Amino acid sequence: MGELRDQFWELPLPDLNRAEWEALCDGCGRCCLHKIEDADTGEIEDTNVACKLLDTGTAQCSDYRNRKAFVPDCLRLTLAIVEDVPWLPKTCAYRLRAEGRPLFDWHYLISGDREAVKHTGVSVAGRVINENDAGPLEHHIVDWDGQDTGALR
Ligand code: SF4
Repeated sequence: MGELRDQFWELPLPDLNRAEWEALCDGCGRCCLHKIEDADTGEIEDTNVACKLLDTGTAQCSDYRNRKAFVPDCLRLTLAIVEDVPWLPKTCAYRLRAEGRPLFDWHYLISGDREAVKHTGVSVAGRVINENDAGPLEHHIVDWDGQDTGALR
């Protein structure tokens, strides 16, 4: 896995070791929500429907280690994927660093506060519904980017 180096979050993404890569996530939970892609336009809409493994109260995966066994299509973010997927939130630490931008000051690596992501309104904790209870995704479209603008510089 490797050690966490001082200020590793300022290094280019390709230089991070595995432990640093994992530690970069702010834990917002946005990538664990279902999205709807328009088959014609390719446009993607966000929903407030969470993967069945997401703890909707904390926005943490309830079985991160074994998640692939239960959710085979769970996307493990890699450098190539971060550069390729259009739907990572503007606040996502991987997206920011892939674009050469610094982390926001509420990110726990900067603020030292794991809860700050919730206070800023970026975390989906307490604001999402489990996919097993949700019904049709079309009834759950949410503009998350519009809601977290206060957290953006
Ligand atoms: S969107 Fe980015 S920062 Fe948020 S949980 Fe997913 S990988 Fe982590």
